[in-house]
Amino acid sequence: MATTWVFVEETEEGPATVGLELLTKARAFGGELAALYLGAGSDEHFAALGAHGASKVFHMAPSDLLPTASAAAAIADLAGQHSPDLILFGLTYTDRDIAGRLSARMGKTILSNATEISVDGGAVTVTNEIFGGMTLVDTTFESDAPYLVIARAKAFVAEESGGGAPEVESVAMPDVGHSGSARVTASHAERLEGPKLEEAAIVVAAGRGIGAEEGFAVINELAMKLGAATGATRAIVDAGWVPYSKQVGQTGKTVKPDVYIAAGVSGAMQHLVGMKDSKVIIAIYKDEEAPILGISDLGIVGDLHKVLPKLIEALSNR
Ligand SMILES: Cc1cc2nc3c(=O)[nH]c(=O)nc-3n(C[C@H](O)[C@H](O)[C@H](O)COP(=O)(O)OP(=O)(O)OC[C@H]3O[C@@H](n4cnc5c(N)ncnc54)[C@H](O)[C@@H]3O)c2cc1C
Repeated sequence: MATTWVFVEETEEGPATVGLELLTKARAFGGELAALYLGAGSDEHFAALGAHGASKVFHMAPSDLLPTASAAAAIADLAGQHSPDLILFGLTYTDRDIAGRLSARMGKTILSNATEISVDGGAVTVTNEIFGGMTLVDTTFESDAPYLVIARAKAFVAEESGGGAPEVESVAMPDVGHSGSARVTASHAERLEGPKLEEAAIVVAAGRGIGAEEGFAVINELAMKLGAATGATRAIVDAGWVPYSKQVGQTGKTVKPDVYIAAGVSGAMQHLVGMKDSKVIIAIYKDEEAPILGISDLGIVGDLHKVLPKLIEALSNR
């Protein structure tokens, strides 16, 4: 692959992890590798992009306008000048917004939800999971480059390559008129207790089996004992018991912890796709027919309101 670009959004902690995962993956394609960086930027952030393989950074610094429309226009202009072969995005709100606009601007197909990307000469093949990960589908682009791909978080592991500081080129954010006129009036950083869900080594997740919003207290207590993050099914997010940021699954987050403890979760396909690659899965559920049993390393059939307090007590006594 002659030239690959990876879109990387700035987060509170620096370059988004999914962007670093994609840079790591793209190193294997050979050729030139550049990051399209959206954020205030700093030498430290650029160095992290370099360490993950980017030899060049196109830096887009946003104003107080919602940046996606003008970032898509900026990337389309850059692509016109430099003719990249492949442009990668993560499965995040900002990335998807920009990738969709870029696709429309450039008239290029996007393949989304990728869990694997392979390059053979100039041919790019993207792997998707369907039917809850039971079937893998490979799709090869037949159109002309650049190929646009949106990949799932955690599909690849972010690893530094020891690369040095990249060359940084500032890119102006073009005025795109009405479509880019939405203004960001406030932004709120979520207060986080314990480790971040996507990064945690242990996740304790709850489903409708907790019975009510108050039922989440025992999940929190166990997570605190284990130094774990808490997760949730969509059923209890939709019920308003926990915030959306805790949702694991097809329309939530993808996690791959060492240990995933699921309590009162039936294991619907849409939940499983977000956690099935966890190393050890422990499920506590009442219903012996629950599909989560099929992918669990350890299943405890019982009432979570009895099992979890006993587990917490046992941990406290250690
Ligand atoms: C387009 C689409 C996208 C979706 N995206 C997601 C997603 O991202 N994430 C997601 O999670 N879901 C998603 N869903 C919803 C999904 O299909 C399921 O409805 C949801 O995951 C079920 O949540 P649950 O396991 O909490 O509830 P249920 O299926 O109701 O399961 C509750 C389980 O708890 C057990 N239980 C009850 N009481 C107890 C007790 N006292 N002790 C122990 N066990 C008990 C029950 O036996 C049952 O097995 C999506 C659905 C659609 C259509």
